[in-house]
Amino acid sequence: MIVNTARFIISNTDYRKCPADIRHEYAFIGRSNVGKSSLINMLTGKKGLAMTSSTPGKTMLINHFLVNDSWYIVDLPGYGYARRSKADRERLECIIKSYILGREQMTNLFVLIDSRHKPQKIDLDFMEWLGENGVPFSIVFTKMDKQSATAAGLQTEAYLKQLLETWEELPPVFRTSSEKGLGRDAILNYIEEMNRLPLLDAEQ
Ligand code: GDP
Repeated sequence: MIVNTARFIISNTDYRKCPADIRHEYAFIGRSNVGKSSLINMLTGKKGLAMTSSTPGKTMLINHFLVNDSWYIVDLPGYGYARRSKADRERLECIIKSYILGREQMTNLFVLIDSRHKPQKIDLDFMEWLGENGVPFSIVFTKMDKQSATAAGLQTEAYLKQLLETWEELPPVFRTSSEKGLGRDAILNYIEEMNRLPLLDAEQ
């Protein structure tokens, strides 16, 4: 898919105030600093579109970006930022989970994982929750350029192997580097395929 246009539409803390038009929507989530803003900028080819975080964990906003005037990228707040207060963490969890469960046009959730890290409880618990709730999601390994190709390959294989100790099957997996543009075509092609599927609400 060629991305011709991508523009910021609106920020919210409440999914019910997100854009009312029914379009395919793809949300991106991960731990704070995982490389989510960089990935969104890489996918759209617009450097400053999603704000890369100089202050990790600050934002609690759900950001909508309209791509090619036809589908949305949604930048969800990053989770797992240790210096948040308990009240803020609970509020954040509520914002994220109500969006995921309530936003019917969310076609797929991309869960970002730093390719250098071993499986972390917070991500595993989150993906388990997605599975329990039947939320369609994919795994996106980020920052693949931070290690040699061999090391990054082995590390991500080990990650997936560990998941398969408790999971029956794996969701789609993408390996990316925002620095190098790795994985861009694979993710955009995947989105293009899903854009062809009818949306539940649009059918009614
Ligand atoms: P966010 O908090 O998840 O939105 O993460 P950011 O996109 O702001 O990235 C966090 C840090 O990781 C920044 O310093 C980025 O420059 C860096 N980063 C993000 N993606 C990549 C990548 O693919 N390769 C490299 N080398 N650095 C990255």
